[in-house]
Amino acid sequence: MTEAVANAPTVASTVRAMRRAGAGNDAVPAATVGTWARTFMDRLYGPQKPVRYECRPSHTVEPWLPATHGDVLHARSRGLTVRALYLHPKAERPAKAHRFRDGACQDCHEHDWMAGPDCCPPTPTPDHRAALPFDPLWLREPLEALQQIAATKVINHYDARRWQTETTYLLERLDQYLKDTQA
Ligand SMILES: [Zn+2]
Repeated sequence: MTEAVANAPTVASTVRAMRRAGAGNDAVPAATVGTWARTFMDRLYGPQKPVRYECRPSHTVEPWLPATHGDVLHARSRGLTVRALYLHPKAERPAKAHRFRDGACQDCHEHDWMAGPDCCPPTPTPDHRAALPFDPLWLREPLEALQQIAATKVINHYDARRWQTETTYLLERLDQYLKDTQA
């Protein structure tokens, strides 16, 4: 282990520093808080390598013994249960990971230096146009009638009254819809 790695802050050392600052009632510089947050993010949520592998025969309660590289690779054929031991506690996976680009998340727009582990994009504002106040299918019959009338240039008294009522209703609904969605 190199000197730099040995002196790198760990989750434990960070918690210790935080508790000391809390107990001392000290004002903590923003840069220090930033370092704490970075340590937690890296150590808890970043990629971690196990510090040690241990194994024991499967379905037994025998003591765990150090596993060789081969034990890990061929655990199944050797009938071994392997466990990986990490230096830092494993954090739960975020429900949704950030997608950072140019220092900001593309989904929630948080900056990478202040974002938490979970990505919580704002709920999109509902588009009123999606909520049609009427079924577009209702337009089919009047339009077909109009097509028919245009082709034959004939309309009887009964149909004329019927289509006048129908189209008036639909035009009113359409006007209301246009008024509502302009706001
Ligand atoms: Zn995000």
